[in-house]
Amino acid sequence: MPTYEYECHACHATFAVREAISQHGRGEVTCPKCRSRDVERRMSEFYAKTPRKS
Ligand SMILES: [Zn+2]
Repeated sequence: MPTYEYECHACHATFAVREAISQHGRGEVTCPKCRSRDVERRMSEFYAKTPRKS
């Protein structure tokens, strides 16, 4: 199952969501922090992301 990265426009949180095929592109993702549906999927595959350091 692919994982997509989203950014919330309301609180600017970023989060990852595993999407089932049936949910793909249906805009049913909500922000886990503020529960806004105003989220945007980021193209993480093409996004040069800074590696997280643990
Ligand atoms: Zn939010």
